[in-house]
Formats: sequence, structure tokens, C-alpha cells
Amino acid sequence: MSDSSMSDWKSIEVFGLAKAEKQAWLLGQLNRLTRHHQAHCQPYANLLAGQGQQEGAAESLNAVPYVAARLFKMLRLSSTLPDNVFKTLTSSGTTSQVKSQIFLDRDTAALQSKVLVSLLSSFTGKARRPMLIVDHDGLTGDKAGFSARGAGVQGLSFLGRDHTYALNSDMTPNWPVIDDFMAKYANEPVLIFGFTFMVWQHFIQPLIASGRSNQLPQALLFHSGGWKKLQDQAVSNDTFKTTVRQALGEQVAIHNFYGMVEQIGSVFVECEQGHLHAPTYADVLIRDQETLAEQCEGEIGLIQVLSFIPTSYPGHSILTEDLGRLLGEDNCLCGRKGRYFEVLGRLPKTEVRGCSDVF
Ligand SMILES: [Zn+2]
Repeated sequence: MSDSSMSDWKSIEVFGLAKAEKQAWLLGQLNRLTRHHQAHCQPYANLLAGQGQQEGAAESLNAVPYVAARLFKMLRLSSTLPDNVFKTLTSSGTTSQVKSQIFLDRDTAALQSKVLVSLLSSFTGKARRPMLIVDHDGLTGDKAGFSARGAGVQGLSFLGRDHTYALNSDMTPNWPVIDDFMAKYANEPVLIFGFTFMVWQHFIQPLIASGRSNQLPQALLFHSGGWKKLQDQAVSNDTFKTTVRQALGEQVAIHNFYGMVEQIGSVFVECEQGHLHAPTYADVLIRDQETLAEQCEGEIGLIQVLSFIPTSYPGHSILTEDLGRLLGEDNCLCGRKGRYFEVLGRLPKTEVRGCSDVF
């Protein structure tokens, strides 16, 4: 497949390609990106040389070279000129940790937004819904140190209208605003977005405690972010869903999604069967955490994520520090094509190892 296919992504159904077709398309995109980043990012070229990889001509998805996620914390990995950097994203985390830095130029940022909207609107429909954001206003202002949270909110805001922030800056519910939104849109499809723990802790729990229930029965909730804090409270995905439906309405659609600041735009959305799905534009592989060999379906290992989007930084193939398991491909009962998987948590810090050690 030729390099000109980059503009073709819009003509491909988000979850419509079966294995052979998808791999042919995605592999062409990933090889193009490998060559591009080798030519434009010296540390990346060094990394590939260290692995004995020169060509950018992988013959299968599992042969596409990958960068360990933590390298984005250690190196300035940029394939664009400093003057072209339009926004720098930083990973969330405590201030004592070194954060990932992701350099976006206008083209990559624009493609991220377009792909994200195309992907998520396959769940919400084309019409922009009134949108309740479970966060406080003031996350998206600072261009220099744009946080993952701010980027997530801004990325999803394109799906909605009448954007309403549900929280005060101290994370307490802004009840007058919430009550207005609920009164205004009680009989309409609305969109709710927030980070998983914040939705649970700062929205759903206060709603239940205050006696409000069943006030947004046509809502669709997208939520993302780690499960660790909820696991600490012994809240499973099933408990989360059941409780959200008790609070908002029995028919509320709830979709978790998995994604990372290193690959904004490529997210893996949970379907009605509770499976995270790779869209046509992205994929996942599972690798053994010791040998880094590709794992079979059902085996636990590190999640590698592939995306056709990033041109301004070498993030098209990343080995994450998250553990997961491939559940199947092209045969989920929801009808979507592609691989589906589950995320099982994060590798403890001390166990992180892998290809970056060639540095
Ligand atoms: Zn499914």
C-alpha cells in the first residue's frame, strides 16, 4: 500500500476491517511512520540502530519497532522543528515524578482530534449532544504544560455542545449548574465525560448521597483513566456500571476507554460486551514481560499500542507499562471487527524493563 493512503483513513469504517485488510492498511502506515521518524528524530534513529532495525519495512505488525513508554520521560523525542511545536503534552502524575513530554505540531494535533471524533461518534452518533464534563473549568488554558486531563477534556469537547463543568475547583459538585443541566436535558440524549475515579468519587457518590436519581436517563457516559483508585476501594467495572445506572438511569450507556497521552486520538473503547476494542486506525499486541515475545490470545503481558497518527514525535508504536490480555479478534458479539482485550493494571515500577535498555 502506498504512502498516499494517509488521507484514506476517513473512508475506512472505524470498526469495519477484518484482520487481513486491516493489517495490510495499518502496516503500510506504520512503516511509513518508522521511516519518517528515523529521518527526523535522531534519538529514535539511534534506538532502531541499537535494535538492528534500519529499514522501516516490517512485514508484520509484531515486527514494527516499538519505543518503551518511559523513554518519553527520559529523552526529547521529537520529529518536528522546535518552532513547529504547537503544544507540549505532559503525562499526569505527582510532581515528584518525571513526566512524559509529547511534542505536537498542528498537523498531528489536528489529526488526533479528527480521529478521536470519528471514533467516539461511532458510539454517540453524529449529532452533538449537550455535554456535562465531570471536572472543573480551567484545565485547558495553559498551552505550555498541557495536562493529559486537559487534553482529554478538549479532545472530547468536539463531540458535545453546551459544555457544562460539573465541579468546582475544589472538586465539590457545583449543584446549581448540575441541577440546571439535569432540568434542561432530562428528556434528551446527553454526553457525560470524566476521568473514572473523578466520576465515581466526585459525581456519582454525591448524586446518590444527595438523593438525586434517574435525572439523565438518556445519558451516554465516556470515562477513562486508571482503575487503581477504584480497585483500592474494591469497586469493579460491574459495580461501577450498576451504580452509575442507579444514579442516572437504568438505560444509561457506559463506555470506559483506554488510551494514553502518548497516543491521543487512538483510544480503545469498551463495547456493550465490556471489551476494549481496537479501531481500524490502531491496534494492540501483548508481549511477555520477560522475553517481550508476542503473547497468544488469553495470555497476560505488557500492552503494546500502535497508531497511524503521530508524525511530530515517534509514538506510532509504544510498549506501555500496562498489563493486559487479548480476548479475541473480529468475533466479538457486539459485531465490531478488530482485536478486543482487557487491561489488568500496571506493572509495578521495579519490574519495568525492556528494549529501552539498549540506551
Ligand atoms: Zn465488542
